[in-house]
Amino acid sequence: MPSEFELIARYFTRPVKRAVLGVGDDAALLRVGKGMEIAVSTDMLVCGTHFVAGADPRKLGHKSLAVNLSDMAAMAAVPRSVFLSLALPKAEPAWLRAFSAGFLALARAHGAELVGGDTTRGPLNICVTIMGEVPRGRALRRDHARAGDDVWVSGALGTAAIGLAHQQGRVQLSRAEAARCMRALEQPQPRVELGIALRSIAHAAIDVSDGLAADLGHICERSSLGADVWIDRIPRARVLGRLAQPEIVEQALIAGGDDYELCFTAPVRRRADVAALSRRLRLPLTRIGAMRSGRGVRLLRADGRAIQQRKGGWDHFG
Ligand code: ADP
Ligand code: MG
Repeated sequence: MPSEFELIARYFTRPVKRAVLGVGDDAALLRVGKGMEIAVSTDMLVCGTHFVAGADPRKLGHKSLAVNLSDMAAMAAVPRSVFLSLALPKAEPAWLRAFSAGFLALARAHGAELVGGDTTRGPLNICVTIMGEVPRGRALRRDHARAGDDVWVSGALGTAAIGLAHQQGRVQLSRAEAARCMRALEQPQPRVELGIALRSIAHAAIDVSDGLAADLGHICERSSLGADVWIDRIPRARVLGRLAQPEIVEQALIAGGDDYELCFTAPVRRRADVAALSRRLRLPLTRIGAMRSGRGVRLLRADGRAIQQRKGGWDHFG
């Protein structure tokens, strides 16, 4: 068993390029670009709540950073520095090797540096803090949507939720479909590049982590507006179209969490720019609704009727 210090040195200490000082001192030292603001976000993943005991450590390493990168994407910030605080029941080399490999590979892919953290014994718990840079005043916030804005979403929604339903034995999938859905659930790709590109197009943005209705609801609340969403326009992976349970599909689209796509609002006159961006990034960007005066998210079926939402997503204390 490695000691705490050996463990940190072996698995979590890597040379830094941007930071002045990384792992190894009482604090990291970071340099802030001129005219930049720092976006800071933290997310905790708890065994039993966010992942199952025995989850693949490499995928867990990937996901624990991916959810934080997704917050940077939603703020249009460039990810820079990451802190990793770990509570571990025991220091198992094979687990640590795989976890740090998954974590550090994704960090490298996005140019983010692991510069510090904390390591302690305890029930498995992973807490990541991320810092990103954004030019002053250019962050995409939840409270800047305007009435009349289009509502857009990237990629496809519901795939991760169907992965979870598969894991829980609530849907039957082919092997290929299951692999596709589990990849969405376990290895989400944060839309960092999209977020940055949206700085000059979008008014407001959020990442879809708790479900579309809940997350768009946050934009509505913070912007003191309402939103209309046409359910049949919500982009979905092909596997959702093949499922025999329409209620599960609809629920996955509206309230399924964990997709980590971006939902954003933009003025109607920017539609061509959004389409051009979609082509450039080779990422579907789909217009699913509109912001309006009023409050709350109204979910409309093709015939124009609004559906009743029992619970707008996953509320940890609901
Ligand atoms: P302190 O006692 O000052 O809190 P620690 O012994 O906890 O210092 O940590 C030593 C160094 O290792 C610090 O730079 C800290 O940020 C870093 N560190 C600890 N755990 C991790 C981790 N899991 N990942 C990255 N850096 C870590
Ligand atoms: Mg410490």
